Amino acid sequence: MTLSKKLMIYFIITITISILVTSFMSNSMINKRFDSYLIEEQNVKFERVRDEINDLLIEKGSSISAEDISSLASSEGIYISVLDTNNNLLCHSNNRDLLHRGMRGGMMRHHTRMHSSGNYVERTYELSEGNKVIGNLLIGYIDNSHLTESALIFKDTLSTAFIVSGIIAIIFGIFASIFLSKGLTRPLAHIASTANRIRIGQLKSRSKVETNTIEVKELSDSINFLAETLERQDDLRRKYASDIEHELRTPLTTIKSYVEAIIDDVWEPSDDNLSILMEEINRLTKLVEDLRYTFESKDTNQVLNKRNFNLSQELENIISTFKPIYKSKNYYLELAVEKDIEIVMDRDKLKQIMFNLLSNSMRYLRRDGTVIVGLSKEKHHIKITVEDNGIGIKDEDIPYIFERFYRVDSSRNKETGGTGLGLSIVRNLVEAHGGVIYVESEIGKGTKFTLLFPLDNLDNHLK
Ligand code: ADP
Repeated sequence: MTLSKKLMIYFIITITISILVTSFMSNSMINKRFDSYLIEEQNVKFERVRDEINDLLIEKGSSISAEDISSLASSEGIYISVLDTNNNLLCHSNNRDLLHRGMRGGMMRHHTRMHSSGNYVERTYELSEGNKVIGNLLIGYIDNSHLTESALIFKDTLSTAFIVSGIIAIIFGIFASIFLSKGLTRPLAHIASTANRIRIGQLKSRSKVETNTIEVKELSDSINFLAETLERQDDLRRKYASDIEHELRTPLTTIKSYVEAIIDDVWEPSDDNLSILMEEINRLTKLVEDLRYTFESKDTNQVLNKRNFNLSQELENIISTFKPIYKSKNYYLELAVEKDIEIVMDRDKLKQIMFNLLSNSMRYLRRDGTVIVGLSKEKHHIKITVEDNGIGIKDEDIPYIFERFYRVDSSRNKETGGTGLGLSIVRNLVEAHGGVIYVESEIGKGTKFTLLFPLDNLDNHLK
């Protein structure tokens, strides 16, 4: 069943039930109140009749006659009988049978519409003079005689009004339900069809719903965001695929041409030549290794083996393993670290970060190049810096150097053996630890990489 149909049915049922309940309740409450009002009125009328008869009896005594009371009885639509203190009949209004039979007597035509369902009932009142009882009055009437014609018309009108307004409200409710449920589900259907188009690969589809319903708007925005992300990832995937293909093809072509030359006997497989071949194979191996790390990024939820350790000490160890390589090239590697700084981090990933940064710096140093590794604890961060006085990076290249496969100058990189993946791996690892990395560089003067790791992480971990 569609959502709109479901909503419509729920709305209609709810509206109908509430309107019926409200109409019925109000109608019956008003009716009840009206009935008791009419009965009170009738009682007042009987009291008045009693007072009149009482006065008559005082005035006329036992000579009171049927004529004295008949006109009163007929005008009030009741039977009147006057009795003395011993309950002997003094006079009565002679219309008892008429009332009893529940017929519509001529005398009561203007006052009471008799119901065949009405019962004849009698009520007695004491008649007195001062404190002395002088007789009894019996008033006979039909028990529903308080329902005069106008009262019945009023009640009928009331019921009709409730029924008519109920029906109008229900019809209005049905239209409102249809309108509301359609209005609610139309944008959802649109979003669903966009999602379906995205599912079958039309990544350029976007949902454009005009709605002021916050949740629907959010859903539509999320679908659009999802589509954008998928589209971006699709582009990236294509870009990576072509980059990887290109990166692998170059060393493979070189190796292939060397091997062909050996087969064709135009190139001697001497040790020197084979070591050239080996270099290419090594380059290929490094590329494959770097590729593995570069995709092991924070988006793929790499698992970090975080531990608390002495970062100052760890950096010193890393530097001491690098020092001989630097020395062999007549470069200097210096350390400016604050002692005993603790950090919570994946130790292997830290090694990898430092390895990439230090081998980069070494690659782009010039004669008498120096690299200084710094470590300090600031208010909110732990700060690691790697600063060299090498060739520097052009301003226009700085925004791109952290991207995969980006190389400032590919011919120069071929010499230096870079793959264009080192910095993207570093950034992924730093960000996976909640940190940031940025670079400041001046061409010809040198480059400084700064890594900031938030202290909150550390505190939370230690708690
Ligand atoms: P590569 O493996 O080619 O070094 P990276 O991602 O590590 O790739 O670096 C991207 C580019 O940034 C490099 O091609 C290089 O031109 C530039 N670069 C990185 N580190 C430095 C540095 N310390 N000095 C000068 N240029 C650098």
